[in-house]
Amino acid sequence: MAYANTDETVSLLKELVSIPSPSGNTNEVITYVENYLKELQVETKRNRKGGLIATLPGKDQKNHRMLTAHVDTLGAIVKEIKPSGRLKLDLIGGFKYNSIEGEYCEIETSSGKKFTGTILMHQTSVHVYKDAGKAERNQDNMEVRLDEKVHSVDDVRALGIAVGDFVSFDPRVQTTPSGYIKSRHLDDKASVAILLQLIKQVKAENIELPYTTHFLISNNEEIGYGGNSNITPETVEYLAVDMGAMGDGQSTDEYTVSICVKDASGPYHYELRKRLTQLAIDNEIGYKLDIYPYYGSDASAAIRSGHDIIHGLIGSGIDSSHAFERTHKDSIENTAKLLYHYVQSEMIL
Ligand SMILES: [Zn+2]
Repeated sequence: MAYANTDETVSLLKELVSIPSPSGNTNEVITYVENYLKELQVETKRNRKGGLIATLPGKDQKNHRMLTAHVDTLGAIVKEIKPSGRLKLDLIGGFKYNSIEGEYCEIETSSGKKFTGTILMHQTSVHVYKDAGKAERNQDNMEVRLDEKVHSVDDVRALGIAVGDFVSFDPRVQTTPSGYIKSRHLDDKASVAILLQLIKQVKAENIELPYTTHFLISNNEEIGYGGNSNITPETVEYLAVDMGAMGDGQSTDEYTVSICVKDASGPYHYELRKRLTQLAIDNEIGYKLDIYPYYGSDASAAIRSGHDIIHGLIGSGIDSSHAFERTHKDSIENTAKLLYHYVQSEMIL
């Protein structure tokens, strides 16, 4: 038995974060994942929402397991073209304007043309505006400066840019010699990379899973309803693999796997949480139990939509989530190890 190569997972993660995929515009990244799985000779199918489901048959085909991670990310959409030729944004997902101030972005028109720009406070220039520091970071004060010679609404329209065009943020992905990965969208592409690597490993080692196991790559998590459908009636356990939330008072860190006991939706299934914890202990995997105060997952969305399942949530610890995210290779490794043992473990029946 050998665990997945974490450096390989990190390279895959870098590829994934570099493909723009704000919720609502995820076809390109889903196609990437689909092709990755095709190469592994894993059959996939898409649901109508645009998510992807891969199934590995197991010894027990009557009781299924489902694991999910999401490829959609935070992003924005063009709300308005200003008379100045700048763009007003509407945000996709839960975050504040201050976390995208100064960020490079890409605007994709409905015909597929791409333009670059920078998200700025209208009053950014300190040589002109007195209140640059104090002005509120909000929809009215922040705008996109296009890297095009545009000075009017008509100039912008002539490029093909229109209200409704998707805007994605530059992930600025970097890895450091000390093992950190700094990037936007580690939530939740770190988990997607881990799951893909896990599937690859199961195939490569010819592991017979105890139960038929579905992997749902969801594409609407950031807006609340990614993984709440396409759950087979046979599914007993449903585990969301998503980021562990860090901050004051949190036990989650960038080095261990975070096992969520409760988030804003309430406690996760007690027995499954205990099982995951025991697997971590038995296999000497660094873990932390934690509560995420302002958080919901695809697993809680599945419960809320009426599925009678045993639900759980684990993930790598992500610092400064939904903003300037960072994690460490160790956390990715520990999460991968726990998942490796989990998919081969006995179910709670
Ligand atoms: Zn997430």
